[in-house]
Amino acid sequence: MIPTLYIVIPCYNEEEVLPVTAPQFLQKIDDLSRAGKISGESRVLFVDDGSRDKTWEIISSLAASDRRYTGIRQSRNRGHQNAVLAGLMEAKDKCDITISIDCDGQDDINAMDEMVDAYLDGCEIVYGVRSKRDTDTFFKRFTAEGYYKLLSGMGVDVVFNHADYRLVSARVLREFANFKEVNLFLRGMFPLVGFKSTSVYYERHERIAGSSHYPLKKMLALAFDGITSLSVKPIRMITLFGLIVSVLSFIALLGIAIAALCGAAAEGWAVTACAVCFMGGVQMLFLGVVGEYVGKIYLETKARPRYIISERTEDRRPKP
Ligand code: UDP
Ligand code: MG
Repeated sequence: MIPTLYIVIPCYNEEEVLPVTAPQFLQKIDDLSRAGKISGESRVLFVDDGSRDKTWEIISSLAASDRRYTGIRQSRNRGHQNAVLAGLMEAKDKCDITISIDCDGQDDINAMDEMVDAYLDGCEIVYGVRSKRDTDTFFKRFTAEGYYKLLSGMGVDVVFNHADYRLVSARVLREFANFKEVNLFLRGMFPLVGFKSTSVYYERHERIAGSSHYPLKKMLALAFDGITSLSVKPIRMITLFGLIVSVLSFIALLGIAIAALCGAAAEGWAVTACAVCFMGGVQMLFLGVVGEYVGKIYLETKARPRYIISERTEDRRPKP
């Protein structure tokens, strides 16, 4: 059976980029279906993540111009990860495979051919991996690569240099729907689902127009979420550190007691003050890390919806 593909594209304030990249996605669908790799029912699915510019108007008029364009709109801006999730969940019962990709033309859409081939060869998840990071600044390259290493050091299973450009089969998505967490870090969650997977390599380009919505602050937030949503190692490291400090202080105390018994003078008050301040600081820092996890539990127990769709372009089309 020829699979139906949905290309899932999150868009937030992308009025400058969409008119350029949308036809490229459609062309890709066209090429793949002409090659007999995907069915004629394949679609380009835009997820408007509560944009404040003309993005939704553009998506609506694209949908009116060609039935292979379709779109959903989130009731407000919820962030990239939630937008991708909304699109994937929308697509999962309508298709056999999804490919999620950013709408800014940075990811090479030609890698999709290889992704679909890998699916046809039996893979259920195909990760798009950046072959090099030439277009990044030194800072971004350095921090990003260091971060992937840190993640794997924390025991989080992530594919090195893979972001959110990936093919996922509907079969995997149906299982993925059971992952109910609200703190999303998709690239770390898909490996948990299992199934046969592989990677394809591509070069990432510059953004076609507009500017990145991932300033340093958001990038750090995502990076932090990645660790605390998927790893409890920081808590374990705190326990270990606490243990080491307690043992060392106990030994030091024993040393001071023995010295006092032998008639030697104890260290001055300055040392004590330093030690107290140091421990105070360490405790506050560690409480903060533990608090971070408690905060996550708080959000998870509330189990608020991870996305809310307010409109669908399909609803506007006259029913046949
Ligand atoms: N995006 C989104 N919601 C947001 C921020 C970004 O849906 O709150 C989309 C954006 O339109 C783009 C993708 O996520 O398609 C990646 O964002 P961006 O290109 O700004 O990030 P970068 O590539 O610089 O990491
Ligand atoms: Mg981008």
